[in-house]
Amino acid sequence: MRVGTTGGLGMSGQRRLLSRLRTLRAHDSAPLSVLVRLVASELVSEVCSIYVQRPGDILELAATEGLNSDAIGRTRLRVGEGIVGLCAATGTVMNLPDAQNHPAFAYRPETGEEPFASMLAVPVRRTGRSLGVLAVQNRTPRNYTEAEIDELETVAMLLAEMLPNSGATDGSPEGLGATLPRLFTGTPLMGGIAVGPIIRLRSSRKVAKLLADDPQAEQKRLEAAVEQMRRGLDDLFADVPHSGRAADVTASKEVLEAYRLVAADAGWLNRVGDVIRSGLTAEAAVQRVAQELHDRMRRISDAYLRERLADMEDLANRLLTTLSGDTTRPPVPENAILVARRLGPAELLDWHGRGIAGVAIEEASPAGHAAILARALDIPALGSLRGMLDSIEPGDEAVVDADEGQFILRPDSEVQHAYRRAQEARTAKNIELAKWRDRPAVTADGVHLKLMLNVGLSLELPQLDRTGADGIGLFRTEIAMLARGSVADVAEQAAIYGRVLDEAGDRPVIFRTLDLGADKLLPGTITDEENPAMGWRSLRVGLDRPALLRRQLRALLLAAGGRELSVMFPMVATVAEFRAAKALLLAEASRVRPAPERLRIGTMLEIPALMWQLPELLSETDFISVGSNDLLQFLFAADRGTPSLYDRYDFLSRPMLDLLEQLVVAANVTGTPVSLCGEAASRPLEALVLAAIGIRTLSMPASGILPIKAMLAQVELRSFQSVLTAIRRGGDVGLREAITTWAREAGIVA
Ligand code: PEP
Ligand code: MG
Repeated sequence: MRVGTTGGLGMSGQRRLLSRLRTLRAHDSAPLSVLVRLVASELVSEVCSIYVQRPGDILELAATEGLNSDAIGRTRLRVGEGIVGLCAATGTVMNLPDAQNHPAFAYRPETGEEPFASMLAVPVRRTGRSLGVLAVQNRTPRNYTEAEIDELETVAMLLAEMLPNSGATDGSPEGLGATLPRLFTGTPLMGGIAVGPIIRLRSSRKVAKLLADDPQAEQKRLEAAVEQMRRGLDDLFADVPHSGRAADVTASKEVLEAYRLVAADAGWLNRVGDVIRSGLTAEAAVQRVAQELHDRMRRISDAYLRERLADMEDLANRLLTTLSGDTTRPPVPENAILVARRLGPAELLDWHGRGIAGVAIEEASPAGHAAILARALDIPALGSLRGMLDSIEPGDEAVVDADEGQFILRPDSEVQHAYRRAQEARTAKNIELAKWRDRPAVTADGVHLKLMLNVGLSLELPQLDRTGADGIGLFRTEIAMLARGSVADVAEQAAIYGRVLDEAGDRPVIFRTLDLGADKLLPGTITDEENPAMGWRSLRVGLDRPALLRRQLRALLLAAGGRELSVMFPMVATVAEFRAAKALLLAEASRVRPAPERLRIGTMLEIPALMWQLPELLSETDFISVGSNDLLQFLFAADRGTPSLYDRYDFLSRPMLDLLEQLVVAANVTGTPVSLCGEAASRPLEALVLAAIGIRTLSMPASGILPIKAMLAQVELRSFQSVLTAIRRGGDVGLREAITTWAREAGIVA
């Protein structure tokens, strides 16, 4: 972080430049050519140029002082091309004494820029979106000073506010790409269609007034806002428990400490003060400094420090809210689409409660927990939408077409109508599928399957009747804890689980013990692990903190109240872990009265190592449920949360199918039931293949049950088994393609 300004124009020079720019702003039609002249003269540069970003990620020379004016509107660079393109692509300042020998330099003869050796280029951005680049150049090779960089960045900030009104060079509003529809291709997380206005998660406030009349008054406003914000933080922190489990207390302390450090960081606040003294309002100064911090942190890969980035954004937003005096939580408009860079499961729950109709996330993959929750809540959702947020403007509308993986920004009215019609057709199809609800899941040749539900919240329980599922094959107990923000006490947990058993009635329920960690973090928990998916999570936490696990097991036994109870443990890596967890459950069971009429204790198979412990494991476990989401990630060493890896490795592959078949063969020897409860179960082709290799109990999100029942009814499973055997003999390559071709020819899938 740069703190303070030195050299260059100095504070009074900066103020003079800003006040001259203010005059410019007063005449919104003032051409950019006046601005570049002004900046060139104030910064003592021979050249000052503005490049404006056009649709198609093109940067076009829009105004220049010092380069050939013929080049205006002609010189174009792709984002990423040349120094200017690099500056826009990376959002970083380029300070180069010898620009022409920089490897990225792109020569454009029409500009006549040969004589200019040094270059300082700064990005022009608004709400994180790149609008262009502002650059100065000098003949003599030189490094620009911190003060000069500071100055140019401040001008870039003002320019970002001016550009949309300036008419840029051609006067067309599309020139800035703000009003054109745009299509983004993403990954479906939960099928469905939503059409409506966009709301941004943690949207940063637009600063109404940038230039200050009285810097001293602004400084006072800042100090008052900081004080008010600190008091607000104290109140907020007072609600965080200071007693309880040592790990919880330590974790929440760490978060608060880090937050306080940022809130109280003198450098940060002094820097805001400096920017105010240069002539910006308190709001503009906070936004400016927050942007600097953001840029700095964006380049840091350390997970812990990146978490601080989120803190800072949050803090800057809080300060801006306090400064604006507006603390109301805006209502969510009807059919709203929530857009976010990342989204935690708890946040999604919160927004679901506020009534959103669809979700679009830049960084999310189908196996992540936000996706799983979107499926549970039946919210159309898309992930892996790179660059989406930077293109969104306030007031934009969008279509989330999560069936086709498309996000349409600013759709025109025809497109909106078409999607509304598609929504209706979808509803009709769902009504058609509903007739399968009361029919069993059985293939054309009479093989019965059990289709169960994956559930995490009591609000999903009505899905049991709506889908006609055979029971709950996976109750993710941690989801309710994430929803409430902490682990409930024994009585409260027992009430939650009891309600599940009541609703399920005669239908079986399998409770999975707390699977917290990785991307399922309770508020106040932070992790400094390099690789939390393989870290201290899930059953590992339960075994290291047995009181937590014991409390949950007791709650489950109390909830059963003498009824049958099935419990399974997640992320088991060794038989010894399973044995230890089982011993805790048996110890609790010996104390709780009435004892369950039948207690089934099972394990999930998510870690491949268990495959080499099968004989022992099968002699100790009552059942195995394959968690294919984690199993796939560990089998192929491919993070399930990394969008770019999401479809790199296929469930329908030789390693996965061979593994599952070996498991089925071994389990058949001991008569141990095997089911599969990952997302793969909800996909028709995968479900068919699983049935063919002998896994006949599948647990899935509600949306999968009816389509799979409908599909199974068309299949002669025995003939498909021979087809599959032949396909597998043909090797791994094209496994999915070959199965799809067969299914198409058989009229099973479209
Ligand atoms: C799995 O890993 O497949 C699973 C069902 O558990 P979760 O998705 O909750 O990690
Ligand atoms: Mg799992």
